[in-house]
Amino acid sequence: MFRKMISIMLLAGIIVFVIPGCNPSQGSRAAIVNPEDSLMKAKTGEFVTVKLTTDLNKLTVKEKQMIPILIRVARIMDDLYWEQVIGDKQKFLGSVSDTLARAYAAINYGPWERLNGNQPFIKGIGEKPAGANFYPKDMSKEEFEQWNNKEKTSQYSVIRRNDDHSLKNLWYHEAFSDKLKTASDLLKQASALAEDAGLKKYLELRSAALLSDNYFESDMAWMDMKNNTLDFVVGPIENYEDELFGQKTAFESSLLVKDKEWSLRLAKFAKFLPELQLQLPVDPKYKKEKPGTDSDLNAYDIIYVSGHSNAGSKTIAINLPNDEKVQLAKGSRRLQLKNAMRAKFDNILVPISNILIDSAQRRHIRFDAFFSNVMFHEVAHGLGIKNTITQKGTVREALKEKYSSFEEAKADILGLFMTTKLIEKGEIRDITAEDCFVTYMAGLIRSVRFGAASAHGKANMMCFNFFAGQGAFERGNSGTYKINFGKIGDAMNKWSAMLLEFEGNGDYNAAKSYLESNGRISDVLRSDIERLKSARIPLDIVYDQGTDVLGIGK
Ligand SMILES: [Zn+2]
Repeated sequence: MFRKMISIMLLAGIIVFVIPGCNPSQGSRAAIVNPEDSLMKAKTGEFVTVKLTTDLNKLTVKEKQMIPILIRVARIMDDLYWEQVIGDKQKFLGSVSDTLARAYAAINYGPWERLNGNQPFIKGIGEKPAGANFYPKDMSKEEFEQWNNKEKTSQYSVIRRNDDHSLKNLWYHEAFSDKLKTASDLLKQASALAEDAGLKKYLELRSAALLSDNYFESDMAWMDMKNNTLDFVVGPIENYEDELFGQKTAFESSLLVKDKEWSLRLAKFAKFLPELQLQLPVDPKYKKEKPGTDSDLNAYDIIYVSGHSNAGSKTIAINLPNDEKVQLAKGSRRLQLKNAMRAKFDNILVPISNILIDSAQRRHIRFDAFFSNVMFHEVAHGLGIKNTITQKGTVREALKEKYSSFEEAKADILGLFMTTKLIEKGEIRDITAEDCFVTYMAGLIRSVRFGAASAHGKANMMCFNFFAGQGAFERGNSGTYKINFGKIGDAMNKWSAMLLEFEGNGDYNAAKSYLESNGRISDVLRSDIERLKSARIPLDIVYDQGTDVLGIGK
C-alpha cells in the first residue's frame, strides 16, 4: 500500500545499525562447524559461475556512460541489504577466518544457507532470526503487536529500541541516511545522462524516493516508461526477508537491458489478459476485479544484480511494482530475464530432468516451455483477486506473512493454466501443453532443492503435494517422475480454484493451517533430491558481473 510521508522528528547524531551483543561478527573470529576444506569446497562448488553480459552495441554512448554509475548505486544497495540481514558486511566477512567459508557467506549474504533451509554453517551462529535485522532480536511478536504505534508496520522502517528499552520506529532514510544520500546523488547523475524522457523522470523520482521513503510517484513513473532500453530496478522492494511479519522490505537492484525483439513477441499476449481472467476456473465472485490493461511484458538481459535480488535463488523474472495502488492504476510490468533463464535451463534443469524425469517424457523438457511457464507465472500475479471478498481488506493484509506463499503458488498454477489455454487457442504454437506440464514438474523439483524455508519454497511444496494427492504425476520404481497427462489438467483447475478461494476469503487461520500441513517436503522427495547432489548437479548459478565483465570503463 501507498505509505504516506509522515514527518518525523529527526534523530540527532549518527545512527549505528548494529545491535550490541547480537552481532555475530563481534568478539573472537568465528570458527567453522566442519573445519575440513572439503565440505566448504563442495558447498561453494554447488554454484556455477555465469558471466553477466549482453550485446552492448544496442546501447548509445550515454547509456554506456550510465552503466558504471548505476553499478555504484547497485553496490550501495548490496551493502544496505547486508545491514538488513546481519549488520556491516565487511565487519561480518572479516570475522570469518576460513577463506572458503567466507566465500560461501558472501554467496549467502550471511552465515545461513539460503538454499538449504537457512541452516547455519558457522559455529555459534544459531538460527537465522525470523525478523532478520529489521527488529530488535529480543522483541517478541506479542510485544510488537501490543505496541501502540501507527507507523510500525511500514515497509520502509526498522524497529529499534530507545535507551529506556521501549520500541521506536526508524525510517530507512534515517537509519541509512549516508548511504542513501550517496545513492540518491548517483541516481541524479545518471538521470542527467538519460536520453529517454521516461527513464530520466523515473531516475529523478527514485533519487528523491530514497530520501523520503515515499516510492509511490517513482513507481508510477516506472510504469509510465515504455521505450527505454536501460532499466534499473532499485530500492527497498520485496518483503520476503522479514519472516516475522512479512512487512519490511529489503534493498536490492537489478540493472537490465531490454531485448526489444523478444519483447515484441511477448507484447502480443498482453491483450489476452482480460479474457483469461474471465476464464479462470473459479466462482465469478473470485474473479470480478479487472486487471490493469496497461500491463507490459518484456524480455531483458540482466547485467548487474545486488542485494536481496542476488541472495538465494537467482531471479529469472521480476513482477513489479508491489504497491497495489499503482497496480490498480497502471497494472504491473513483468520482466523476463532471458540470459538468467537460459543459464539455469542449460546448467540445471536439463541435467535434473536427465535424472528425475521419466525417460520417455524427457523430450518434453524444452526451453520455450520453461520460458512460457516463467513468463506466465509473472503474468498471473496480476490476475485473480487483490481484495478479499469478506471485507478483510487486501489479500496481502488478510493473509499476513502467509500471503507470499499463497500468492506464489497462485502465480505458478494460474500461469500454467494460461499457457495451456493459449496453446488450446492456437496462440502459442511452438510448444505443447505436455511440454509445459513436464517442464513445470522438472522446474518444481528444481526449486524444491532450495528447501521449503522461503515463501517460494513453501509455495512449491504446496503445488507438489497437491498434484501428488490428485495423481497428476507418479513416481516410478526407478525414482523418476512421470506426468499423468489424463489427470493433470483437472488437478490444475481444482488447485487454481482453491488458491483463488484462499486469497478471496482471506481467512488467515485456514491459510496457516493448510500451509502447515501441505508446505513440507516429503521424505521420498528429499531422498530424490539427494540423488542430484551425488550427481553433482549445480544448485544454482552465481554471477561474475561488473564493468570489467561487460568490458566498459569504470
Ligand atoms: Zn512470483
